[in-house]
Amino acid sequence: MIEFKHVSKWYGAFQVLTDCSTTIQKGEVVVVCGPSGSGKSTLIKTANALEPFQEGEIWIDGVSVGAKGTDLPKLRSRIGMVFQHFELFPHLSVMQNLTLAQVKVLGRSQAEAAERARALLERVGLSEHIEKFPGQLSGGQQQRVAIARALAMDPIAMLFDEPTSALDPEMVNEVLDVMVDLAKEGMTMMVVTHEMGFARKVADRVIFMDAGQIVEDCTQSEFFENPEQRSDRAKQFLSKIL
Ligand code: ADP
Ligand code: MG
Repeated sequence: MIEFKHVSKWYGAFQVLTDCSTTIQKGEVVVVCGPSGSGKSTLIKTANALEPFQEGEIWIDGVSVGAKGTDLPKLRSRIGMVFQHFELFPHLSVMQNLTLAQVKVLGRSQAEAAERARALLERVGLSEHIEKFPGQLSGGQQQRVAIARALAMDPIAMLFDEPTSALDPEMVNEVLDVMVDLAKEGMTMMVVTHEMGFARKVADRVIFMDAGQIVEDCTQSEFFENPEQRSDRAKQFLSKIL
């Protein structure tokens, strides 16, 4: 579904990604972890063509992200992205946040978009907040709206970049629960997170990045249950967060 082949990227003279290769199969949940500044956000942004890369290839469901002629807006509309900061449209109601792109990008009727929005809001437990504005919701509620908004586009995969790290601790689980459900339903997911409980529960694989490189790419049981086989850098990281 998502394939990185020898991807390298520079910001000016600074190499932020070095020869990153990995493949995420349909229905797989891959957690990406690693120290701050290791390139996790950059890696997932390249998959969505939010950041260009200079070397290598990225393929999304058979489409080459970097190839000339690829319809990037169309590609982006097929990949759901949820960021650390919720990035909802503050001047639009929850309902409008969920329907806007469905109507503008997918060409759905207002009624069809609203029906889909209602179903998704129910699924993330926010039916009673449909007419509110983002500022009237808690951080955890806003993040669940952001997930519902991404799902409204019927994405083929979902990318999450530290979706719970800006939340107050008591709100982390309500967001993780939605993500766990999504994983169990078979959504293809790439999740940058330090929530190792989530990783243990639903990840098929764990990627560990350091200094722009994929240092570890293994099954979650290998990652957590055979720590002696991990690289020193991964061990050091794990010792700090577990
Ligand atoms: P992570 O998500 O793992 O914390 P990032 O992908 O955000 O790491 O950043 C990786 C490195 O790239 C960091 O050293 C960061 O300072 C640098 N970086 C990120 N964005 C830019 C940018 N727009 N211009 C220059 N350097 C950047
Ligand atoms: Mg980041």
